[in-house]
Amino acid sequence: MLQQTRVAAVIDHYHEFLRRFPTIQKLASAREASVLAAWSGLGYYRRARMLHAAAKVIVHEHDGIFPNTAVMLRELPGIGRYTAAAIASIAYDEPIAVVDGNVERVLRRIAGNALPGEELWCAASNLLDATRPGDFNQAMMELGAVLCTPRAPQCLTCPVVELCATRGELPPSEPQASQKKVEIHYALHIRNRERRGGEIFLVQRPLDISLMPGMWELPEIAASAGDASPMFTLRHSITVTDYTVRVWNRTAPSVIKGKWIPSGRLTGIALTGLARKILRKAVII
Ligand code: SF4
Repeated sequence: MLQQTRVAAVIDHYHEFLRRFPTIQKLASAREASVLAAWSGLGYYRRARMLHAAAKVIVHEHDGIFPNTAVMLRELPGIGRYTAAAIASIAYDEPIAVVDGNVERVLRRIAGNALPGEELWCAASNLLDATRPGDFNQAMMELGAVLCTPRAPQCLTCPVVELCATRGELPPSEPQASQKKVEIHYALHIRNRERRGGEIFLVQRPLDISLMPGMWELPEIAASAGDASPMFTLRHSITVTDYTVRVWNRTAPSVIKGKWIPSGRLTGIALTGLARKILRKAVII
């Protein structure tokens, strides 16, 4: 849950997730739709699916016991080299180094050159304190997050300044990708508003697409002609795209197939992050 997200944004979801799935057995036997609903709002839904798949492997192939080496951890769905090394070193004291984006930056600056992929892992392993691998890895990640930041690293207070060949920013090796700007429009249609908050018309994303399959969202509509004004506008960013989202109080075209969802049930279904944001802004959830 915490990858690319702040603790403050995650902590309530974390407690609610543990309340719904207090054991690995409960998580493994849950329906995928329930797991996605509990994950709703955190984004990157592939992680929820992988977590669910990994729980099934742990229950069915490891008798419910969490694997405790990086090699075994890497065999679980959704666990790559970094995550396996982080869990093995921090939870089980295995002497194995991690390299994430922060560690990568620290290592490159200390070395004074743009170390290519495998050399980064070798450099991290060579520096690793094998007696306290978990603390060492967390210290490296923290150093990159707090002092050796992408812009204006705080070299004067850096504990490894004596070892560092760069003591500042390395020149960028490639130009930064610029954000694309896109405008999109959604229909927010509420019926039977007088009955317990009414029902909202939502559409389900196809199950066979790679991005957020099966999740619920508002119907997307064409830009409005004329001088009408949207109910509201909000901003939403996903990786390299900045969206300007305009939400209109209108009926979706009849060709759009969807479902009326009672407003009281909205928090129990897997909404996309943007749908959740819109419904919050409209004070529906
Ligand atoms: S001295 Fe500066 S550039 Fe080098 S590791 Fe420390 S903060 Fe980063």
